[in-house]
Amino acid sequence: MINSLRGFRDLLPPESDLFTRIETAAREVFRLYGYQELRIPTLEKKELFVKSTGDTTDIVEKEMYAFTDGGGREIANRPEGTPGVVRAYIENNLGQTGRNGKYFYIGSMFRAERPQAGRYREFTQIGAEHIGNASPYADAETITMLVRLLEKVGVEGCSVVLNSLGCAECRKAYRELLLNYLRLNNTALCEPCKGRIERNPLRALDCKIDGPALAEKAPKLSLCPACTEHFTRTQELLKISGVEHQVNTGLVRGLDYYTSTVFEVRSGALGSQDAVCGGGRYDDLVKSMGGPAAPAIGWAVGVDRVAMLLKDKPAADTAPKTFVIAAAKEAGEKAFALLTALRAAGISSDFSNFELSLKSQMRSSDKSGAAFALIIGEDELKAGACSIKPLKERGEQQTIPLPDAPSHIKQLLKGLSGNPPVSI
Ligand code: AMP
Repeated sequence: MINSLRGFRDLLPPESDLFTRIETAAREVFRLYGYQELRIPTLEKKELFVKSTGDTTDIVEKEMYAFTDGGGREIANRPEGTPGVVRAYIENNLGQTGRNGKYFYIGSMFRAERPQAGRYREFTQIGAEHIGNASPYADAETITMLVRLLEKVGVEGCSVVLNSLGCAECRKAYRELLLNYLRLNNTALCEPCKGRIERNPLRALDCKIDGPALAEKAPKLSLCPACTEHFTRTQELLKISGVEHQVNTGLVRGLDYYTSTVFEVRSGALGSQDAVCGGGRYDDLVKSMGGPAAPAIGWAVGVDRVAMLLKDKPAADTAPKTFVIAAAKEAGEKAFALLTALRAAGISSDFSNFELSLKSQMRSSDKSGAAFALIIGEDELKAGACSIKPLKERGEQQTIPLPDAPSHIKQLLKGLSGNPPVSI
């Protein structure tokens, strides 16, 4: 028996169905906001992540699934989606299409983190990137879209936390201040931070080990007038779109490329891994990767964590509506044709094995959760009909000519009582 790798898991029904519904809801929201899908590769040159995400970040320094392939190329499984989107944007000259640079992606990311509840080594992200728009309207739109998406999938009780990391100019002076503070507090730094503060002092404030204690007394970043104006305007616009949020000047976000607005969505219901989504502006990244000067903003939602928040909610009914049974040996072909006709009429239908006993097929039919069993036995075969047996509600069994079965079932389904299932 060969087991799956630690931190890698099988998504089984009904959780797999929950993932699909979250992704489908996300696609609808993206369409509403003018986003188009980018399907980017899972594997990229390792260098892409080193240069964009940053070699002082945990996900690149410690957690990347990187290897040398047979041709001696340094390759990495993507730990996040933004670098691939930016590479695709530049490589395919997407900035020259004249269209809004609004893209989304859905797919697996890989990080060799210590697995725990809500933290896996392969996990699914839904991400959005808006490239080529520097205005605070883009910030407000992208955060509003994120909140609406979470609402649409049924996530409740989340909070939006916002901060501004300023532009390169704001950070130039701050870098020196912070570096001095960190040097003075060198003994409070963890080993990895000691090695990286000279290259990226801001990283220490985001470090899971020493960050919280350091951040408390660290000097605060003061924004230049333009960055202050941008941040204030973003918050005013979020008020207009009805998005509640809190400013937290301690929110740093661990990746190298962030500038200006950064944000996270958190849920208290998740325990220690409480981040549902993280994002922010990356105004300098496209240019620094060899592309045009294209300011941008984006975010990524963790689907595994959203699914955790939704797993106890009533789900859409995925059971088949009908279950077809051949109660006589010769009835198999007619039953198979009936199944075909039902599906052609849009009625989800299933069967087990027409060659097994009636009892066995009835048992499978009960387990399937179907609303009706459609049975063809000897009598029905002679009459060119099928018997319809309600499985969920009391009701008479009735015999209907085979050609009328699909329309009759549609009528019966309309009349079923009970609350309609909640669908995302
Ligand atoms: P990040 O790219 O680190 O900002 O992550 C964005 C979102 O992806 C987080 O808010 C989480 O919801 C999700 N996420 C990140 N790492 C993991 C992981 N190892 N397992 C599951 N979800 C994750």
